[in-house]
Amino acid sequence: MSFEKLNLSKPLLNALNELGYIEPTPIQVEAFPIIMSGRDVIGIAQTGTGKTFAYLLPILRQLKYSEKRHPRVLVVVPTRELVLQIVREIEKLSTYMSVRFVAIYGGTNMATQKQLVYDGVDIIVATPGRLVDLSLTGILRLKDIKQLVIDEVDQMLSLGFRQQLLSFLESLPNKRQNLLFSATMNEEIEGVIGKYFYEPHKIEVTPHGTPLEKIIQVCYHVPNFNTKVNLLEYLLKNDESLVKVLVFTGTKKLADSLFDTLKMRFPEEVVVIHSNLSQTARINALKQFHEGTKRVLVATDIVARGLDITDVTHVVNFDTPETPEDYIHRIGRTGRANKDGVAITFISEAELDYQVEIETVMNKAIPYEPLPEGVVISKVLTDDELPKMVDKIKQKKGKDTYVPGPAFHEKKEKNKKVNLGGPAQKEKLKGKDAKIRTYRRN
Ligand code: ADP
Ligand code: MG
Repeated sequence: MSFEKLNLSKPLLNALNELGYIEPTPIQVEAFPIIMSGRDVIGIAQTGTGKTFAYLLPILRQLKYSEKRHPRVLVVVPTRELVLQIVREIEKLSTYMSVRFVAIYGGTNMATQKQLVYDGVDIIVATPGRLVDLSLTGILRLKDIKQLVIDEVDQMLSLGFRQQLLSFLESLPNKRQNLLFSATMNEEIEGVIGKYFYEPHKIEVTPHGTPLEKIIQVCYHVPNFNTKVNLLEYLLKNDESLVKVLVFTGTKKLADSLFDTLKMRFPEEVVVIHSNLSQTARINALKQFHEGTKRVLVATDIVARGLDITDVTHVVNFDTPETPEDYIHRIGRTGRANKDGVAITFISEAELDYQVEIETVMNKAIPYEPLPEGVVISKVLTDDELPKMVDKIKQKKGKDTYVPGPAFHEKKEKNKKVNLGGPAQKEKLKGKDAKIRTYRRN
């Protein structure tokens, strides 16, 4: 199957050709005719399988030249970095077309964005907060929107965003096409969508929560923060295959402490990103990591969704993600576009139940590695690790995702009903997938 077989225009074919894209990916093949037909679409495909072009190609194919001021296409995504990435993709594909597009996101001067919108625009790519702010100024009018894309839709409908999203949905014209994409989706979200959208056609290339086969997964059981630091430092020092390493922590505070600690040992190699940093600092950190001038990026979940960073060799979950969806998206920053990748997860005793949930959704156990002999097991607990109740609550407050989890007592209640990943449970899960490849370090 080549791009020529899709009913694309010459300018698009030329751009694809020059960019070196030869064959459409499965989600691109399936989504193209359905989106062209005008139907609402929910597209589910694994991380890194080309969902962006799956919606951009038919949208650009249909976009007619216009001198109208108000935008006709609206793409909404959860983070500023993702806005910038998608705008770059539009720029690449539209080299031979006359398309006006604007990136709308917070943390930067609104006046510049206002001016660009005022001058006239075809496609808006936005985060919800700034989109709402700009609409309120009256300069951005959404009455001509014909196509709405919500990329990373399950994240966008999580509690932190839902109000904003539903509020601007109300201001869109009823007659429009809705296109929703993500690697994960759940029934509750489909329920919410069902109310707003018209008989969406679901394209599911692989079932929700299927991890990429290309990503080799492995986990370590590590008792506490200091031992996790020792293990990470050991791996960075002794394993040369860790060339471009994205390290996720559960909170901004932990990202900062880990960054400060790693900086002492690897002074020129580490950068950090989370939502408390300035937009310039965020962009710089991501750029240095992307370009390969820095080896390690310590990050919160703000970079877990959608970002396409070139050739990340390893994703390290310094903290085990609290939901299977977060896990799938985090590890999906590696192994993109058919490349190989390794995902390493550090799991403390308190995090064992997250592991069970992740393995249940993936229907696959994460192969387990014993701690290497050279790793010192620390008995020193951090302040946060000491009084556990207070710690959990504090961490939740500082979290960098937009998904407030259940309150601590609710979580506890819920956990009572399940086996907390004791040895028997773990063995059972391991037995589920006998074909798992075991990860061996040299
Ligand atoms: P997803 O949204 O599914 O996570 P992206 O749209 O970010 O994935 O694409 C992942 C990577 O694959 C990008 O680097 C993109 O340039 C590349 N890509 C997209 N379509 C193709 C294609 N048809 N052939 C080769 N590479 C592609
Ligand atoms: Mg994407």
